[in-house]
Amino acid sequence: MSNTDLSISRNVDLADLATMHVSAKAGTLIEIHSIEDLQRAFELIKQQDAEFLILGGGSNILFVDDFDGVILNIKLKGISIIEETEDHVLLKIAAGENWHELVMYCVSQGWGGIENLALIPGKVGAAPIQNIGAYGAELSDVLVELDAWMIETQTNNTFSNAECKFGYRESVFKSHLKGKVVITSLTIRLAKNHIPNFEYGALKAVLESRGITKPSIKQVCEAVIEVRQSKLPDPNELGNNGSFFKNPVIDVFLFNELKQKYPNIPGYPVTEHQVKVPAGWLIDQAGWKGYREGDAGVHKKQALVLVNYGNATGQEMYDLSERIKQDIRKKFGIELVREVNIV
Ligand SMILES: Cc1cc2nc3c(=O)[nH]c(=O)nc-3n(C[C@H](O)[C@H](O)[C@H](O)COP(=O)(O)OP(=O)(O)OC[C@H]3O[C@@H](n4cnc5c(N)ncnc54)[C@H](O)[C@@H]3O)c2cc1C
Repeated sequence: MSNTDLSISRNVDLADLATMHVSAKAGTLIEIHSIEDLQRAFELIKQQDAEFLILGGGSNILFVDDFDGVILNIKLKGISIIEETEDHVLLKIAAGENWHELVMYCVSQGWGGIENLALIPGKVGAAPIQNIGAYGAELSDVLVELDAWMIETQTNNTFSNAECKFGYRESVFKSHLKGKVVITSLTIRLAKNHIPNFEYGALKAVLESRGITKPSIKQVCEAVIEVRQSKLPDPNELGNNGSFFKNPVIDVFLFNELKQKYPNIPGYPVTEHQVKVPAGWLIDQAGWKGYREGDAGVHKKQALVLVNYGNATGQEMYDLSERIKQDIRKKFGIELVREVNIV
C-alpha cells in the first residue's frame, strides 16, 4: 500500500495545535481522514520504528519538549442517527468532530444528556479517554459503545460502556490500553424527554437569577456556558489546559485531621472511607492563585487552571505544576495527580 495519499507534514510547529500554546515541534504530522489513512500511517510508523502520538484538539496535552516521532491528527468526520424512537435517539459520531459543536447540535434538536458538557474543548474521540465530566454529568452517562482501531492487531474493535471501565476522569484507555488504541467513533444515547440535571450550585444560581425553576435542556446549556465563561479562561485568549490536576480522593481520617486545622475545607464523600477534596481549594489555600513567574502562572479566578501568558515554555509550565504538587504534599499530605497528559 502506498503512503502517497497521506497528508504528511514535517517539522510542524505545535503551538496552535494544543491549547496551552507552548512552542514545540513535531517531526512528522499526519492527518487522519479515514480508517485507510490510519492503516497507512501505522505502516509508516512501523517501517520507521517511530514513536507516535494521537492528537485530538490538544486541550489535554502539554508538550514539554519537541516530539520527534509521528503525530496522528484525528480528522475523522460524520454524525449519523442509527436509531430513533419516540423517546430516544442513538447517534454515531466520528472521533474528529468537535465536542462542543456536537453538544450544541444535540441541544438544538432537543436531545438531552450532554447539555451539561457544553464548552468542553476538544474532539469527540478524546472524550472517553478521561471520561469528560462537568456539572454533575459525565460522558459515561450516555455512551453506549465506541469503535477503536487496535494498533497491535490493526483491526477494529467495539468496546461496550462497561468495557471502557469508566471512573472519575478515568477509563481503560488511560490505564492499560494507553497508547494501544485509536478511538474512531462513539455511539451515544440521548433522550427526547430528558429531565435536565441542574443541581450543581452555580448552575442553579444562574437559573434562579433568571426566575427559571423548570429549565429546558437549552436553558441548562446556556447556564453552563455562562458559568464556564465567567470562571474559565478561553484558551484562544490565554493558553491553558482547563483543570491541570484531578480532585484528590483521600482517606476520611486524613480529611478529619485536615478539618481540625482548616474548618472550611470542602469534602464530598466518595465511599464510607474516602472523601474527594477540590484540588483548586487546596492550591488556593496554599497561596498559589494568581501566582505568576515569567509567563507561567496560576489563573487569577481559578487556582486549578495553570495559564501561559504568552511565551512560557512547556518545561516552565511543567516545573510550575511540580512546585505546586510538592507544596500541596508538604502542606496537606496530599499527592496531587495531573489530569493533563505530559508529552
Ligand atoms: C478551558 C478548558 C476547559 C476544560 N474543561 C473540562 C471539563 O470541564 N471536563 C473535562 O473532563 N475536561 C475538561 N478539559 C480537558 C479537555 O478538554 C478534555 O479532556 C478533552 O476531552 C480533550 O480533548 P482533545 O481532543 O483536546 O484531546 P487531546 O488533548 O488532543 O488528547 C488528550 C489525550 O487523549 C488522547 N487521544 C485524543 N484523541 C484520541 C483518539 N481518537 N483515540 C485515542 N486517544 C486519543 C491523546 O493522545 C491524549 O493522551 C478542559 C480543557 C480546557 C482547555
